[in-house]
Amino acid sequence: MPAPRYPLVIGDRRVDTPDWLPVDDRATGEVIAEVAAGRPGDVDAAVACARAALPAWEALGPVGRAGAMRRYAAVLDAHQPGLAALIHREEGKPLSEAQAEVARACEVVHHFAGEAERLWTMHLPGASLSTGSTVRPAPIGVVAAITPWNFPVALVLWKLGPALAAGCCMIVKPAQEAPLAARMVCDLATEAGLPDGVVSCITGDGPVLGEALCTHPGVDKVAFTGSRRVAEQVAAWAAPRIKALSLELGGHGSLLVLDDADLDTAAEVALVQGFANCGQACYSVNRILVPRPLEDDIIARLRSGIAALDLGPMATDRGPARHAMLLDDARAKGATVEGGALREGNYVEPALVTGAGPGVLLVDEEPFTPVVAVLPYDDLEDAIAEANRPDYGLVSYVCGGPSRRTLDVAARIECGTVVVNGWRVVVPQAPYAGWKGSGVGTELGRPGLEAFIRWQHLRVLA
Ligand code: NAD
Repeated sequence: MPAPRYPLVIGDRRVDTPDWLPVDDRATGEVIAEVAAGRPGDVDAAVACARAALPAWEALGPVGRAGAMRRYAAVLDAHQPGLAALIHREEGKPLSEAQAEVARACEVVHHFAGEAERLWTMHLPGASLSTGSTVRPAPIGVVAAITPWNFPVALVLWKLGPALAAGCCMIVKPAQEAPLAARMVCDLATEAGLPDGVVSCITGDGPVLGEALCTHPGVDKVAFTGSRRVAEQVAAWAAPRIKALSLELGGHGSLLVLDDADLDTAAEVALVQGFANCGQACYSVNRILVPRPLEDDIIARLRSGIAALDLGPMATDRGPARHAMLLDDARAKGATVEGGALREGNYVEPALVTGAGPGVLLVDEEPFTPVVAVLPYDDLEDAIAEANRPDYGLVSYVCGGPSRRTLDVAARIECGTVVVNGWRVVVPQAPYAGWKGSGVGTELGRPGLEAFIRWQHLRVLA
């Protein structure tokens, strides 16, 4: 039986294309679907549809949009199992991780439906109530969302939730490697009764569609999550038209273990965040900084934890080759590598690296494969300096005793998010932002809503 075909989502229309792109099951290599290969003309159609929808969507007002978003959230909830199953197959993460991703992502839509209702216009009266300063949150307009494959549903809904609340229309361009669940999220907007043109999804080649979206005069903002390499290109395309831009990029997370830390907790943080999604997470733990006297204790815990891991396949064909390359580089520079072998198909063994330091690729650059490096320290100041050394600043972790010092150390880590004594990173109420080379702009939280707003001051003098 031929694989099912999924057309473009251009508002309420489903549009076939001359060419189609295969999507495979990462565990078996079987082609499970084909998605439309959109072209620049399809981007033009989606932008025109979004621009046509924008005035009425804005005019619906915060309360009207909140109601529409609640219906959308309910439809997404009803399809959670289907979305998770798609992610599991096209991206390869274990089903339980896919279910958690979808459940947390749907919470984002519920949260921002509530935020829509709190989008007040402010008025500072002048000589009379009808004069003075009215400050209103206008939507930024039509937004292109360019998203990666590693959290295909979450990273769409982190953008779509606040964008819809603000009154924006959005065109989603998911990653070619895992487009099915992201496309389904957009497809369901029609079932939920969102107005035609408020949500579209153009699947296809990243560079071709990226350029078409980022240079399009009808696109007001580009919200990008992905690699720094592509972000530089996206920013260059957006610059001549001074488009609003948010760039959520990679990280190089440290786990700083203090001398009074609970080592079981520290090991759990390292194991969960070092190896979740086969290491393909922007918030991964990559370097574990541990007081030298505790090094053997933490390594023993990691060894037994790693032996019990059951990783899914890697999400891209590049993943296993990169894992091997990084571990070869570490060995060549004198580090000790435990595990890490390539297995059949897209599977790899998790790896533990000791004796590595700056200059070793996986200590300096985001690995994006299942590997953690243990770096012992003698002086806490040196450990903080190492935590802050790479040009990344997304998520890091600190484990320490229940004292003021633990929090003081956490506040000195130069990252948008620092998690203390645990591994749960994201809540929709709080901002998620990359510092330094990890990006510009903020997602989630109140700042994540304001990222889709442009303020207008109506100065009424008489
Ligand atoms: P990527 O940069 O290769 O791709 C991201 C998106 O850009 C995809 O939609 C892709 O199709 C598109 N694209 C690829 N090449 C392009 C080009 N030349 N021009 C325009 N668009 C292009 O990233 P990826 O490999 O899909 O994702 C992994 C990266 O994303 C990692 O660095 C990871 O840390 C980062 N990430 C960041 C966050 C965050 O919130 N900060 C979250 C998840 C992932």
